[in-house]
Amino acid sequence: MLKDQDRIFTNLYGMHDRSLKGAQARGHWDGTAKLIEKGRDWIVQEMKNSGLRGRGGAGFPTGLKWSFMPKESDGRPSYLVLNADESEPGTCKDREIMRHDPHTLIEGCLIASFAMNANACYIYIRGEYIREKEALQAAIDEAYDAGLVGPNAAGSGWDFDIYLHHGAGAYICGEETALLESLEGKKGMPRMKPPFPAGAGLYGCPTTVNNVESIAVVPTILRRGSDWFAGFGRPNNAGTKLFAISGHVNNPCVVEEAMSITFEELIEKHCGGIRGGWDNLKAVIPGGSSVPCVRGEKMRDAIMDFDYLRNDLQSGLGTAAVIVMDQSTDIIKAIWRLAKFYKHESCGQCTPCREGTGWMMRVMERLVTGEAEVEEIDMLFDVTKQVEGHTICALGDAAAWPIQGLIRNFRDEIEDRIKHKRGPGGVTMAAE
Ligand code: SF4
Repeated sequence: MLKDQDRIFTNLYGMHDRSLKGAQARGHWDGTAKLIEKGRDWIVQEMKNSGLRGRGGAGFPTGLKWSFMPKESDGRPSYLVLNADESEPGTCKDREIMRHDPHTLIEGCLIASFAMNANACYIYIRGEYIREKEALQAAIDEAYDAGLVGPNAAGSGWDFDIYLHHGAGAYICGEETALLESLEGKKGMPRMKPPFPAGAGLYGCPTTVNNVESIAVVPTILRRGSDWFAGFGRPNNAGTKLFAISGHVNNPCVVEEAMSITFEELIEKHCGGIRGGWDNLKAVIPGGSSVPCVRGEKMRDAIMDFDYLRNDLQSGLGTAAVIVMDQSTDIIKAIWRLAKFYKHESCGQCTPCREGTGWMMRVMERLVTGEAEVEEIDMLFDVTKQVEGHTICALGDAAAWPIQGLIRNFRDEIEDRIKHKRGPGGVTMAAE
């Protein structure tokens, strides 16, 4: 289990003083100017060495992403944009940082912005996060008053401004280019890529969009050293990570743990076990609603990191929002509910997503009641494959993967329901 002295988030549960004074007493904003003095190249290299992979879901190496930003300005400013939209169902980790540990995030924004030649950072926070927005804005105001941000931020010689922008509550605005559109005051619709944001992002200027957790861990990584951070987890899956465990565990929680912890240890040490015991575990969605679900018996020994969940279980770590479902769950209905969500949130720009999400949801509806043909299961799987990878943004994939996971793992249950509904002679029985 991760030791307390190795935790980056020292006030995750809001038990301590979250003001600047409290944050400084816990080690934040300590020697920030000295870190900046070491220069851009050193910071980017340290981030690469740390092995940090983006915490927003895709797991792209953070240091590498930063290195895509132009070293010299061609006259355009550069921007750092923080994705605080956190709308993936099951995901509730960034909110704990923003409302309880906001100063490590603000300090991270300054350092990351400096490393990318940006004098301004925009934080795009989801519409529903009212209290989080208030807490974060209060912390930003405190940082301005103390001279930690603003001109000559923290005495570093770097001028730095930070703006908090409140979204209006659309899931698609968590997609980085839709977020930029929304920030510019337009409808939140994803852009075609390329160009990528590092070339032409916010207002057509070089921009990096990072997740809240990815930036909030930066100051501690630089203070304690990249080797320290890289020492947790398996190779290529380094660091500590916030896990948000919800559903049928005895004690749902958000907890910082070492990457590559086993699922069993995570649940036993922090969540008080599975409701009704391990035999009662039916399915797990290990990384937020868009990753495929996994059968309970395959999860117990699972290693909770990017590579294991993808390569060994055909799922993903995503945002590490772990949704646990016990035997009382109607798994077909649970996945139908996600299909309904993605259909509702599709922005409608591309045909496979606009039409496909509705089509998939309607077939899922019939699978829930059993009023379908067995052949339709393969047909549905085929449609998910036609949506996946054929859309402008990842929402198409996000809608397809949960259904693929359901069919791969619970085909027997879907078939049973159809057969039961049709009765022994193949005749459809009256609704129960
Ligand atoms: Fe919009 Fe869906 Fe296309 Fe994304 S995949 S751009 S949400 S229609």
